[in-house]
Amino acid sequence: MKSATNPSESTSCELAREMAQKSRVGVVLLLGSPGAGKGTQAKELSRLWNIPQISTGDLLRIHVANDTALGRTVKTIIDHGELVPDSLITEMVEARLLEPDTARGYILDGFPRTTDQATWLIGRLAVERNPLPIRAVRIHLDRTQLLRRVSGRRHCPVCQRSFNIYEIYEHRPKYNGFCDRDGAALIQRPDDAEEVLCRRLKVYEAQTTPVIDFFQARGQFAEVMGDGPIEWITESILDAVNGLSLAGQEIPREY
Ligand code: AMP
Repeated sequence: MKSATNPSESTSCELAREMAQKSRVGVVLLLGSPGAGKGTQAKELSRLWNIPQISTGDLLRIHVANDTALGRTVKTIIDHGELVPDSLITEMVEARLLEPDTARGYILDGFPRTTDQATWLIGRLAVERNPLPIRAVRIHLDRTQLLRRVSGRRHCPVCQRSFNIYEIYEHRPKYNGFCDRDGAALIQRPDDAEEVLCRRLKVYEAQTTPVIDFFQARGQFAEVMGDGPIEWITESILDAVNGLSLAGQEIPREY
């Protein structure tokens, strides 16, 4: 973002920023296999557009950590790398979408993962008085890179942030083994263990790949490559999203 050079410029920048922050962004779905970088990119876009990131994986992990009824039901399913039943997921997503911060739009990270979830979401948007536009972007990474990235991934059980212990990746923890934000000891998610990850990749191929066809058929799908510096990938996603926009509906790139 360019810095303002004089007070009047600064005021107009602030005004532009304020206007941009009030505009509707819409629903952006980040699709992609486990480890493709959806969470990292969702956080970047959420900051940039000032709309919430809604990660169904994070929401479920919070339920598990808080030992809620839903958490107890889904823990074994998650630990085995299977998908949580659609009805439980859509109920949880519905509750989150009713919160007022979703009015200008939101980023869905890890949802929809089945065509039934996608159909539910489209139906939900269709009954709104002024439906938000929806666009799906898949972040693609090949299997070797996925396995390497996920094997170095570590997770903060307190704030749900992800880190990577390998030097080639960004987001290495400042102090080995501890969260930068709250100092909690980082863990490897049980479902990131190689055996479970392979199961998750199979489930992704079988159940989530059809979601791509679903949005492609609707002209609401684009794909970006998931290797390279985080900011390059963010740029590619911004290009992809705007490529899917009707003229005049582009999302502002800078705030
Ligand atoms: P994630 O952090 O997105 O990789 O999700 C972790 C796990 O939570 C998945 O392997 C599933 O068991 C479960 N999960 C997350 N999102 C969904 C979803 N949309 N549908 C079904 N299960 C999900």
